[in-house]
Amino acid sequence: HEATDDAAVAEAAGLAVRLVAGEPDNIKITVADDLIRVRQSLAAGGDSRIGQGLDVHRFGPAVEGGTRIWLCGVALPHDRPLIGHSDADAGLHALTDAVLGAIGAGDIGQHFPPTDGRWRGASSDQFLAYAAGLVRQGGGTIINLDVTLVCESPRIAPHRVVMADRIAAIAGVAASRVSVKATTTEGLGFAGRGEGVLAQAVAMIRWPI
Ligand code: MG
Repeated sequence: HEATDDAAVAEAAGLAVRLVAGEPDNIKITVADDLIRVRQSLAAGGDSRIGQGLDVHRFGPAVEGGTRIWLCGVALPHDRPLIGHSDADAGLHALTDAVLGAIGAGDIGQHFPPTDGRWRGASSDQFLAYAAGLVRQGGGTIINLDVTLVCESPRIAPHRVVMADRIAAIAGVAASRVSVKATTTEGLGFAGRGEGVLAQAVAMIRWPI
């Protein structure tokens, strides 16, 4: 006859089998994904971590016929380009630093040094996706992301929803967990003079103890 489990095999071999109560928390870990799942279940009772990120990029001279800039993963038409080593997406950079900060994983410049030619003109979605990947690998989950863009132009409000959807897709979370806000500084300071864009972000993350 067929053995239904290892105890049946032992009995068939003439061994005495004794049953002991198992420990439900003692989950079998076989492949790498098991480890991630266990970490995530442990994190359900884990820490809430907050990280914050801040980034600034300045506008370059006006371009004949206009250009486009990237903010929160969305291309927007603008008269002047944003200057940066990568695509100068201050929104995604601030979010990336917020996520890295929450898990104590340094900052964006450490993981993607501007001295490394690979990141020249790079699309910044890979930076946030990388940070979100570190959260997942560590068994954590992103609870929510909130970013504020500070600039006189372009107008952000018409693009808030599509930006939030884009951030959610990049970070691998539900759009309901992402918030995009914008403000001006009433003409004060560099943002008020239209010299650049500032972005500030916070990330809350559930993280294994
Ligand atoms: Mg930056």
